[in-house]
Amino acid sequence: MSAVNDALIRDVVADVLARLGGAPTASPSVPAPKTDCGCGGKGAAGSTTALRGKFGVFSDANEACAAAHEAFLQLQKAGVAARAKIVEIVKTMAEAKAEPWGKLELDETKIGRLDHKIEKLKIIKLVPGVEWLRPDARSGDHGITLEEYTPFGVVGAVTPSTHSIPTLSGNIVNICAAGNAVVFNPHPSAARCAAVAVRAYNEAIFRETGIENIATIIEKPSMESFAAMCKHEAVRILLVTGGPGVVKAAMQTGKRAICAGPGNPPVYVDDTACMTRAAKAIIQGASYDNNLLCIGEKEIFALEGIADKLMAQMEQHGAVKLTNAQLDALTKAAFTIKPGEGGGCAHASVNKDFIGKDPIVLAKAAGISIPSGTQLLFAETGADHPFVVEEQMMPFVPITRVKNLAEGVKRSLDAEHGYKHTSIIHSHDLEALTEMGRALDTTLFIKNGPCMSGLGLGGEGYLSFSIATPTGEGVSNPRTFTRVRRCVMVDNLKIY
Ligand code: NAD
Repeated sequence: MSAVNDALIRDVVADVLARLGGAPTASPSVPAPKTDCGCGGKGAAGSTTALRGKFGVFSDANEACAAAHEAFLQLQKAGVAARAKIVEIVKTMAEAKAEPWGKLELDETKIGRLDHKIEKLKIIKLVPGVEWLRPDARSGDHGITLEEYTPFGVVGAVTPSTHSIPTLSGNIVNICAAGNAVVFNPHPSAARCAAVAVRAYNEAIFRETGIENIATIIEKPSMESFAAMCKHEAVRILLVTGGPGVVKAAMQTGKRAICAGPGNPPVYVDDTACMTRAAKAIIQGASYDNNLLCIGEKEIFALEGIADKLMAQMEQHGAVKLTNAQLDALTKAAFTIKPGEGGGCAHASVNKDFIGKDPIVLAKAAGISIPSGTQLLFAETGADHPFVVEEQMMPFVPITRVKNLAEGVKRSLDAEHGYKHTSIIHSHDLEALTEMGRALDTTLFIKNGPCMSGLGLGGEGYLSFSIATPTGEGVSNPRTFTRVRRCVMVDNLKIY
């Protein structure tokens, strides 16, 4: 540890002297790989020393990829203990820096809530680490076979504006626990805070392990830097977390893409549910970080016999109901309705100024004043209302009455758009639970709880902020970023 510290000081001094003398910078403490990394990108071969001293933050996408590749080779040599150390550093630092980083992210993005931005960093410790990678073993008359979960190399990752540092931190834990390095092309409107976290992680990881650039970031991300990252030879697989645009773009790169895509989670509530519990769960989930979560409750279908009871419970637990006129005013402000082409259906698009904003901003647009501390607004709407159809990411939920289970399931299916992301039910009718689960076919299916119980927060399971939906890997974990390799020993090895 102190040797590494000494080396770090030596490097800084060497770097300053080199800069003063106009010579290229060098970082003697981190050994350069013995051979050319072969990734072929600009800055990859013959210039490894130029990649040092940046602690993961690069203006050039090719350099970010080459530096991550060099770090991957170092991590390979350093072994599982170094992976575990990286995981520990990221988890500890995310918790320790939760308040300043949460504030930094909110200041930059201006979406969501500070208390939840902080909480999302504090819970990074719930993301699984190296312990997740137990090999599968077989033993029999013909010897022993081990199937090991081994790294790919460098993962190219894209992060959303809705949870920039939390997604990045959870991704580093998963990806590095599996022995890989990672390059991030973050969302442009949440890139500055992401770079601060990447630099801090790298400084700590370098101090403890001597490995620099295990997670790199493109400082000013763009479509061009995304393309360069995807094209780089060292980047073996992609992990994208975002909406339909980036999922489509990633799938067109020709590389294997793990896609954590969009959602629009429906909630069905029937007459066997506990109304108090359902109302409280809906408020908790839909108001979380002002409904920025991809798993967050976005529209409610309530059986007509209990819809009034559910709404009364929601009001009793602090949600504010809008009248039809107030709903109309909010809808006009929160959506732009474009007429359909060639006489087709009109299309609503979400007004970005309202995404992730506080309830008070929505209430103002609706022309209503609300008690301070109000977490969620709601109103009764039809099933084809823009608030039902679009992934709106605002602290507002529409509630639509349905006649029976069949209609509730059909409406939920329509609203989910086949994203196969998340659906929720409040019911104690076993048939309804099974029917909805089968029909919706979503990656997360939550019964009688708020959305976050699907990520191990109040429900059983583990956490990740990247839930691979269209590509089917599910809630990502270290194993998601591994290649399965079989090692066979043929002999009479039985000890029994
Ligand atoms: P977004 O789609 O606007 O951006 C996500 C990322 O993709 C950003 O880094 C952005 O720069 C990049 N991007 C967008 N279009 C691109 C293109 N054509 N080519 C290359 N890169 C492109 O999403 P956002 O608003 O930041 O995040 C919200 C969306 O992400 C929602 O749809 C939400 O459901 C989804 N999301 C999903 C998960 C999940 O785990 N499945 C997690 C968080 C967010």
